[in-house]
Amino acid sequence: MDTKKICERCVLPESRPGIWLDEEGVCNLCREYEKEKKDGKKGISLETEFTKMLRNYKSRGEYDCLVMCSGGKDSTAALYYMKKRYKLNPLAFMFDNGFETEDALENVKNAVEALGVDLVYFKSDFMSGMFSRLVKAGSGAVICHLCSLWYMDLTIKTAARYGISLVIAGWTKGQSREGIFPGCACDNAPEFSAMAEETGKFLDRYCKNDPRYKDFPRSMEEVLKRARKRQRCVVLSPHWFLPFEAETSLETIKKELGWKTPEQSYPAKTTNCGLNFLSVYLSLKHYGYTHYHAEMSRLIRQGALTREEALEALKVNFGAERLAPILKKLGCGPEDLAFGKESI
Ligand SMILES: [Zn+2]
Repeated sequence: MDTKKICERCVLPESRPGIWLDEEGVCNLCREYEKEKKDGKKGISLETEFTKMLRNYKSRGEYDCLVMCSGGKDSTAALYYMKKRYKLNPLAFMFDNGFETEDALENVKNAVEALGVDLVYFKSDFMSGMFSRLVKAGSGAVICHLCSLWYMDLTIKTAARYGISLVIAGWTKGQSREGIFPGCACDNAPEFSAMAEETGKFLDRYCKNDPRYKDFPRSMEEVLKRARKRQRCVVLSPHWFLPFEAETSLETIKKELGWKTPEQSYPAKTTNCGLNFLSVYLSLKHYGYTHYHAEMSRLIRQGALTREEALEALKVNFGAERLAPILKKLGCGPEDLAFGKESI
């Protein structure tokens, strides 16, 4: 596995041009955060701000908001909060790229039943051809990044179909910057610059001339730009405004919504679609870290997670046997992984 030297404070390795370590072994992102905090630029988001925003969306139409549900703990907690804590009428939306696990589906079904919330379930193998090509080409594009471009576009279009202008995601304080709309998610963050560049290159090289993917957005910025032209829409996460209480919210959804921890996940104790394992494997191989390392590093800087907790959760806990059925479903084999940079 990866043996790159990582930052003394967070869990990111040096990865130029976006991330580098100084002579004390601390990365530029940790230094930047430290400076902004000192200058008072890092304001704390308050729940009162969030409830004030929500007032603009209440009782506007049949549903007050669309909640993106993956079956994971954070999005399930987000659905719970919208219904129970903020007394809104949400429409749950689950998208399935064909690799969603039974555990995840079960968690969503149990949650909507317990809460009495309507659910839209959308399943499509539209992305499979792209993922298959990515593996065969040995591209450094990140599966989860490409998938997020697809599902954000899909989610915003679905919200429009139901006349909803507030989309709720279960993103943590480490996952995205506040106010994704108008603005941009991760494309411009230094942690993701190398990955975003490879995604763009891959789409240009392999997908531009494919009729199925010719209109596929090249970046999250583009997804949002297109959406802005069509409709008014805001994407928010309650987790940005609430204290970080991972254990408390986990207990609540387990008790009240019957949420179950999936059998196997990466990082530990999360829920992902099956493709996540392949995406993690390839990210580690190409970059020496994953988007989870970036997310947890942000949480460490914010004091919501210790470096030790993150390192423990990020230990690779799966092997080739977990990847084999995913590769098979994509029409690929283990031989397709033997390419490119150093292997993990
Ligand atoms: Zn760092």
